Amino acid sequence: MSKQAETNSPDETIELSLYKAHEKVYPREIKGRFQFKRKLAVWVLLGLFYVLPWITWGEQQAILFDLPQRRFYIFGLTLWPQDFIFLALMLIIAAFALFFFTALAGRLWCGYACPQTVWTEVFIWLEQWTEGNRNKRMKLDKGPWTREKILRKGSKQFLWITFALWTGFTFVGFFTPIKELAEHIWQWTMGPWETFWLFFYALATYGNAGFLREQVCLYMCPYARFQSAMFDKETLIISYDEQRGEPRMRGKKRRESEAPGDCIDCTMCVQVCPTGIDIRDGLQYECIACAACIDACDEVMEKSGMPKGLIKYTTENALQGKPTHILRPRTLIYMVILLGLVTAFGVSLANRSAIDMNVIHDRNSFYRVVDANTIENVYTLKVMNKGTEATEYAVQATGLDGLEVVLGLADQTVSAAPGELVIVPMKIRASKQVANQRIHGITVTVSDVAASGENTSENIKYFGYKK
Ligand code: SF4
Ligand code: SF4
Repeated sequence: MSKQAETNSPDETIELSLYKAHEKVYPREIKGRFQFKRKLAVWVLLGLFYVLPWITWGEQQAILFDLPQRRFYIFGLTLWPQDFIFLALMLIIAAFALFFFTALAGRLWCGYACPQTVWTEVFIWLEQWTEGNRNKRMKLDKGPWTREKILRKGSKQFLWITFALWTGFTFVGFFTPIKELAEHIWQWTMGPWETFWLFFYALATYGNAGFLREQVCLYMCPYARFQSAMFDKETLIISYDEQRGEPRMRGKKRRESEAPGDCIDCTMCVQVCPTGIDIRDGLQYECIACAACIDACDEVMEKSGMPKGLIKYTTENALQGKPTHILRPRTLIYMVILLGLVTAFGVSLANRSAIDMNVIHDRNSFYRVVDANTIENVYTLKVMNKGTEATEYAVQATGLDGLEVVLGLADQTVSAAPGELVIVPMKIRASKQVANQRIHGITVTVSDVAASGENTSENIKYFGYKK
């Protein structure tokens, strides 16, 4: 798309493009202490992703989000739709952890743990492996389509597509038992949804990590835009020490200068940058804090006999010679909220009941007279077995003397298979003398008949015999 602007002469027009042409970034390979940590993060995180679905816990896949059955299995813990609160809490904890670590250490997530970053790293490794180093890749792209180019590009595409398909398969393996999924693929009997998500996730991985790469961070990621709201002058950033580095110069000019800065203008920091920016231009939202420029510049400084740290982790305050505080109101507030949420999550998980119940009073009558001495209230009792085994439950009512529970079941106990919701008509009887107020508060308790002692209860209203 272009826009035409009129000039003094009606015949003259200027074409202004509203889009900047994309320039392919060829990041140079670099080694160093931070790149070692990034590689380690890639191995650990992707290792977990690819290995976890293959781990069995008891008789069940250790982590399985079984959507058709509406059950989430997480290392022996089974969560049901009724446990949505735990999922919501987990997401809130993850969000606050992100706020806390961003306020403390800047874009740690972007540089080391974001899926876009870690998968892009692997795709770049495969590219380097098949097409060679930065110079060779640039030369190969500019050169004509020779046999070698076809072979190298073909091998890269083969590895990328295989890796992307394996990623799609693993992703679906978190939602469908992965061993069954492997059999379905082998026998070519996959269901439509399995097929769709496998190829969709493979395509997303291939597109994001193979082609879009830094453009996802620059143009698509919302976090890159709003993370600056969590930054302050004490947040860890990666910065070029302008006072020490300037005036930058190289070659003859440098040799003849009386006071050159420490930057020898080798552009290594730019060549290694996966987003193609120049850190010497100051803090930029495009910087994903991968620290590749630190490793590159440290190596240059070492070879030039100058102290390392021309590009380094620092804070805006430190750059201005002011003290930096790790503990400050912003980080303390995030930390307290995070600790509170983690504690609430742990406590509620520890006290989570494997029984879910609900009692609903009959809307047609407050109470019914059974005989000269007895009345009854009629309810609907709902019991759900959130455990992993079939269970039998006893039902009890307390809060008034002599309450009697009568279930619309022959043996007066509720039996429920794992995940089953049983709905039972329930009458609670009381003597007129005891239930002599308009409304009483009573408690209904559902307990596991077996020795587990698991029980849960609900406080309900009981309408008495008051004329
Ligand atoms: S790597 Fe260091 S010395 Fe080289 S251009 Fe970058 S900041 Fe200057
Ligand atoms: S400027 Fe440095 S830290 Fe930022 S993305 Fe580029 S190489 Fe990584």
